Amino acid sequence: MTQTPSPEHEHTGTAPPPARYDAAVRAAVERRLLSEAGPVAGFIDTDGVRASVAALHGAFVGAPGAVLHTFAAKACSLIPVLRLLADLGMGCEVASPGELRLALEAGFTPASVVLDSPAKTREEIRLALALGVAVNADNFDELRRVDALRSGGTDSVVGLRANPQVGGGSIGPMSTATDTAKFGVALRDPGAREAVVRAFEDRPWLSRLHAHVGSQGCPLELIAAGVAQTYELAEEINTRLGSRRVTSLDIGGGLPVNFADDTVRPTYADYVAALEAAAPGLFSGRYALVTEFGRSLLAKNGFIGARVEYTKNAGGRRIAITHAGAQTATRTVLMPDAWPLRIGAFDPAGRPKGGPVLAQDIAGPCCFAGDVVAFGRELPELAEGDVVVLYDTGAYYFSTPWAYNSLPRPAVYGFHAAGPDGAVAFATVRETQTMDEIAAESGLAHADALVRPEEPAAGGRSAPR
Ligand SMILES: *Cc1c(COP(=O)(O)O)cnc(C)c1O
Repeated sequence: MTQTPSPEHEHTGTAPPPARYDAAVRAAVERRLLSEAGPVAGFIDTDGVRASVAALHGAFVGAPGAVLHTFAAKACSLIPVLRLLADLGMGCEVASPGELRLALEAGFTPASVVLDSPAKTREEIRLALALGVAVNADNFDELRRVDALRSGGTDSVVGLRANPQVGGGSIGPMSTATDTAKFGVALRDPGAREAVVRAFEDRPWLSRLHAHVGSQGCPLELIAAGVAQTYELAEEINTRLGSRRVTSLDIGGGLPVNFADDTVRPTYADYVAALEAAAPGLFSGRYALVTEFGRSLLAKNGFIGARVEYTKNAGGRRIAITHAGAQTATRTVLMPDAWPLRIGAFDPAGRPKGGPVLAQDIAGPCCFAGDVVAFGRELPELAEGDVVVLYDTGAYYFSTPWAYNSLPRPAVYGFHAAGPDGAVAFATVRETQTMDEIAAESGLAHADALVRPEEPAAGGRSAPR
């Protein structure tokens, strides 16, 4: 099993663009979902999402114990998407009060929600315990808070996050199991294992171990090794305490996504095979399992479409200025080597462009020089009114915009093939942010605050006038 894309694809995205979304791009232009007035939008392939969820569930059908597959809300924090996933039998992993609210609005039952933030306040813990949402404590101090806050009783499953310290992958910020990562109890630190065993000994209600070993850039074997360490720790706790204290393992998410071409690799079946090899006892049925996948469920099921506003030459380089930049392709712009994207070129009618290719920079609308989503990419020559498509952006792209330059959050639409004739049906998931909304979130209600100061109240809200 190898995840390394062939070198010529790795940073240049020269694989042919996928044809599977051509009809959707064409229909989006015809329906004016991409237009001069709305020059950038995100699109989600709902049939693709269904297929990805089915592949995940299918890979685990042989597991004898209970398995709860949760979706990591941060990967696509849009209520209609979360509701689709709830409808497909998924649970939800949340890491903030905002994500918890979205999950509940989407219709997830509290028992199918897992709260994982590394910085939970007492109030957040209290709310989760009152609702019956599962809580994975990040550290011993948090466990001590739970001791105090659960005294009134709770239906919540409570777990402890471990950092198996198995090392990192090729993208530092995506590697959660390095020696010095900020998450969980660092298991290889002196005394840590002993302290974990004691934490379980002291708390009969503590019943879960949690690990999330890494995300993009982490090889499957590394993820499996981290899960295996967590399984072995559970076995050690249960053996030493003489009873089954750990009854479930939350094994996290983080399956890497292949951004170089259309194939899904590794697959969920590859993931299960890697786990079976690294920790055969994991599938003995002695532990209920929880998974937390995000990127691998959504990335290949979404794309960004953006109009080309201008083209120009600078220093011998051709540049297309489009409406897709750092506000929606944030990671790609800030770390272009770690997050290369395939790009497609379409004419103003939304048809794939042909003709000779030319190396072009695909730039965005933001006012900083690095706002470029692809450098020197060989594509048919782009012109004003054309559409560029950024593929594999269904996770962590249009759903997680950046408010730089007060650019609006782009609209998001779901789509599916509506009939044998290839007709495409769209549904609005989120409208483009309006200028009124941008003004409101930029302090409009307090416009006078600095020229006629008011007294702010605790908690960040201004005193009413
Ligand atoms: C982000 C995150 C996930 C999901 O990671 P992906 O790489 O999107 O699958 C799962 N668990 C935790 C704790 C996370 O922080």
